[in-house]
Amino acid sequence: MSSDLIIRGRNVVLRNSVERVSIHIANGVISSVGPFEQSIPGVEMIDVDDDSVVMPGLVDTHVHINSPGRTEWEGFESATLAAAAGGVTTLIDMPLNSIPATTSVAHFEKKLETAAGKCHVDLGFWGGVVPGNTSELAGMCEAGVVGFKCFLVPSGVDEFPHVTEADLREALPELSRLDSLLIVHAELPGPIDEHSGGGGDQKSYQTFLRSRPRAAEDEAVAMMIRLSREFDTRVHIVHLSSSDALPLIRKAQAAGVKITAETCPHYLHFAAESIGDGSTEFKCCPPIREGENREQLWRGLADGTIGTVVSDHSPCPASMKLPETGDFMHAWGGIASLQLRLPVVWTEAQGRGLSIPRISEWMCSGPAALVGLERSKGSIKVGADADLVIWSPAKRFEVKPEDLEHRHKISPYAGELLSGVVEKTFLRGRKIYDVATGHDEVSGQLIL
Ligand SMILES: [Zn+2]
Repeated sequence: MSSDLIIRGRNVVLRNSVERVSIHIANGVISSVGPFEQSIPGVEMIDVDDDSVVMPGLVDTHVHINSPGRTEWEGFESATLAAAAGGVTTLIDMPLNSIPATTSVAHFEKKLETAAGKCHVDLGFWGGVVPGNTSELAGMCEAGVVGFKCFLVPSGVDEFPHVTEADLREALPELSRLDSLLIVHAELPGPIDEHSGGGGDQKSYQTFLRSRPRAAEDEAVAMMIRLSREFDTRVHIVHLSSSDALPLIRKAQAAGVKITAETCPHYLHFAAESIGDGSTEFKCCPPIREGENREQLWRGLADGTIGTVVSDHSPCPASMKLPETGDFMHAWGGIASLQLRLPVVWTEAQGRGLSIPRISEWMCSGPAALVGLERSKGSIKVGADADLVIWSPAKRFEVKPEDLEHRHKISPYAGELLSGVVEKTFLRGRKIYDVATGHDEVSGQLIL
């Protein structure tokens, strides 16, 4: 097959190994992965240096772009620019906190209109399951959503109400019929309500942590395992924080229940013990828990119980974090980390002796497979899109808010020293980001 670009490197991340190979690209697709020396006269060759790794472009299946309706929180342009700078080539947008929320075909069409022509990386969409919208699910599937999200507790915005078990009993048979995937914000209101009246200093992180106990997650996960088994529906637990739920998931997976789980960089990097009073930039739901919990999450990743690490990029204007009062109980819950996922996860994985092919599995091939994009995204293999990130694992940097391309610069990572610098990002064989020269024009496509 003819090629129009060759990228060769000494550290190219293939399925389970790092190899010295050349990647031949034709019309944006990988046409061969061959010997390092294999060049073709007249074809441009990018020779990646010894210190850099060539990995599949990252896939992030958990991103809140918040547009239309709350574009002042993020928006398609700033989100996809930050993604490209973070080595991410495919995003899947959450069905909330846009207005309207993506809970009907008509609302989905508004979303598509808003996104068109603004995206610097490829972009797919989740639909939403909310009370009473079962009749919309088939239409949204047909229009191209990759699956559906629901909340079991209030979501934080009125347009996206949470579901009860009774609602799920209506939606799950339809999702099974459509062979679609349900992703679940797994906290149940019961344990949260019990603790919310507990009082305590609202500037203290411990007060907030006590208000969202592990039991809220553990009981929700147990319920979803039960329902997944009963209706034979594929269920995925988003942003797992409570490590106490791991044994439940492990056991269900071993028994053949179609349940998977993801966690997020902040649960793998921070620990509750070190979060200072009033530091509401650390607030997210479920919360960042203790250091001991974090180590259990790493074990869950290492043994495969947790299959993916995605950002849960959930930005808001800085004022919504209530910096004046530092009130954890009323500040917006959400952490923006789209651009930082690779260095945060690599910094922590490296310290635990975990390899680059493993992080590629959690951040590239795993998320791609979750949303059915495993043929085109998340792997360096013949026939896949030539989506690549070139990065330097040994280079360290300090996170400076002004370097973040997220619309709002507030970040719990400010001042952190991380390993892993993204140097170049390629989308379908075209360089869309270079740390030296910045961004290329819009060339992202909508994935439908
Ligand atoms: Zn989220």
